[in-house]
Amino acid sequence: MLFTIPGPAGAQHAFLPEAQWIALRSEASGTAAYENLRALTRLHRVPATAEFDQAAALILDRAREYGLQDAHAEQYPIDGSIHYGLMRSHVAWTVEGARLWQIEPQHTLLADWSSDPIRLADYSHSADVEAPLVDVGAGTSANDYAGKEVRGRMVLADGVLSTVQRLAVMKYGAAGIISDMPNQTTAWSGLDTSIVRWGHLDGSLPKGFAFMVSRATAAGLRAQLRSGTPVVLGAHVKAEVGPGHWTVVTATIPGTDAGAGEIVYSCHLDHQRPGANDNGSGCVTILESARMLSRLIGNGSLARPRRGLRFIWGPEVEGTMAYLSAHPDIRRVMRADVHMDMVGGDPFKNKSVLHVTETPWSLPTFITDIGASFAETIRDAATVYTEDGSHEEAAVVESRGGAPGTRNAFIVDVTPYAEGSDHDDYDSSTIAVPSLYLRDWPDIYIHTDHDTLEQIDATKLRRVALLGAASGYTFAGLDGSQSSVILPFLTARAEQRLAKGFQRAQLLALDADRTQEQASSEAHNLMRQTLRREQAALRSFAAFTQSDPPELAPALAALATQAATFNGWLDAIAKRGVHLASSADASSGAHDASAAAAQGSARGFAQRSAAAGHAGMRIPRRIAEFGPLTFQNDDVLLDRLGPERVGKIKLLSGDSSRLVNAQESGAIYAYEIVNFVDGKRSVAEIRDAVSGELGPVSLDLVSDYLQACEEAKIIAFR
Ligand SMILES: [Zn+2]
Repeated sequence: MLFTIPGPAGAQHAFLPEAQWIALRSEASGTAAYENLRALTRLHRVPATAEFDQAAALILDRAREYGLQDAHAEQYPIDGSIHYGLMRSHVAWTVEGARLWQIEPQHTLLADWSSDPIRLADYSHSADVEAPLVDVGAGTSANDYAGKEVRGRMVLADGVLSTVQRLAVMKYGAAGIISDMPNQTTAWSGLDTSIVRWGHLDGSLPKGFAFMVSRATAAGLRAQLRSGTPVVLGAHVKAEVGPGHWTVVTATIPGTDAGAGEIVYSCHLDHQRPGANDNGSGCVTILESARMLSRLIGNGSLARPRRGLRFIWGPEVEGTMAYLSAHPDIRRVMRADVHMDMVGGDPFKNKSVLHVTETPWSLPTFITDIGASFAETIRDAATVYTEDGSHEEAAVVESRGGAPGTRNAFIVDVTPYAEGSDHDDYDSSTIAVPSLYLRDWPDIYIHTDHDTLEQIDATKLRRVALLGAASGYTFAGLDGSQSSVILPFLTARAEQRLAKGFQRAQLLALDADRTQEQASSEAHNLMRQTLRREQAALRSFAAFTQSDPPELAPALAALATQAATFNGWLDAIAKRGVHLASSADASSGAHDASAAAAQGSARGFAQRSAAAGHAGMRIPRRIAEFGPLTFQNDDVLLDRLGPERVGKIKLLSGDSSRLVNAQESGAIYAYEIVNFVDGKRSVAEIRDAVSGELGPVSLDLVSDYLQACEEAKIIAFR
């Protein structure tokens, strides 16, 4: 049943017969997804609001129309204190109307909720105020308010909205905020001043409202203020923040073997109107994958797979946590996740690249390789098509009969794990459902009124719907009998990554910021962690299929042999002494602990230095509820320890970028440190693991972070 067919017209997959690939490809419709998206983009889909529920109803109608089973909506109460797993729930928001007028020097309507809801920041409270406007710059530090009377007035600010609310409204008594807070930074930032950004106030604060205006509008107001013209605004808001509910829609395609586990498709249904790419696109594309599979399995074109398929649409991260918390039985049988968050951007408009995103190294898996391989098949055919117009079917172009898709290339790559969506939950160690995460990045219009249907390519929607359907269907049907084809395929990809790991290790070995010995030690650690990850990814196929494939042992041995060769080359670099560190750099101290830890784990605990020894040898284990430690509106350490204590966590503090190599943010280290806690690894071994994945970090930073987790009762030491 397995074929490999060369050339862009073929299926080119070791694990899905060509006839099945072509059946899926022919069924995939970018137009169906595009028309569903048109409907979604009319709704302002802030979680726990009436319009979010309208979006949920729309998805539910379609799921039923497409013949999915058990299609229904679930509601989860929220009030800011109910917990779902580790996560504290947020609040709901009801808006009757809101308008912002400029009254002096001229009478103009600046914002109207009924026609343009993005202009009212989420969690704005009721207000009825006519008052002068005061420019406070960013409005995020006390200095911004020095010598300015803002009490009872409105402030014009472009800083982070919740910080402005805390200072201007809560501390200095301002009535409300006019904000031109810019969008996420990209190379194109600031070029289009007509963009209005989506804004959110802090839902836990009891007062304040904010209207969002474009940079151009704000510049006009600032110019009037600078010229001494009094600017008077009238703000009218009727809105309420309080308890409510989250809604999650779910539906299934049952498998033939209830004991074989489930494959889940996820996305997030929330975000501002229009929110076409973020994330209307992911919602309609998993819906299209569902429609295709339901139809083809229903009419017998595809065999019903062993494992069932489950589709989930809810508020980002929060809906996922609520659903997984309410259904521990389902959570435990989920075997893989296909997650889509922004998958339809026309790259020549929103500047996006579609990334097939790997799982974090704490959760090695074979599933990314299967998804990546489907993506590459479409990409290669699309490239040929753009060059000479041939292979239109294989290129999965959505232009039949005047359909709205482009003839663009499929710009897609495979990237390391990146944070920022529901996959953070699935991939975290206490849930451990590996995600095939598909995402556009960057998107110059994300979280703005410009994220419209106009930026979306129906051809791309069709390609990703096919990629998603083929991947999920393959995961659902996998069994050990396919190992003779799949394991060699997976091993070849693992060998490529091992070789890339060596390239990184070689650079580390030459790192002039470390002594020869430290540099060599970190380089060897990187090879050791890379080998461990790739071997674990191959083993994950045996675990997934609950089989004992004969190809596994030779594949693991092949990787070990390859790694041994690379390690020999690293030793040769050390012996040649080509390393460039000066003695001044080497004794600077920042890397001392990290080097000690790396050497410690290389040589075994017996030889570890006394100083690093005790902290490094302790073995943490997870306690408390399931889930990662940060969510959309909740940070567990902040909740449990308070801002003062969290401010002292070295990994997360402002100067951590000096200490944390290779990555600008400590957040991704924090996520992985907690994920590597398994009751077996010592603190030093966790340091080695995150250092291999993300770049060398000191034992001190890892130990200090885990200490805070112990205080917060997330972990306990054995
Ligand atoms: Zn998103």
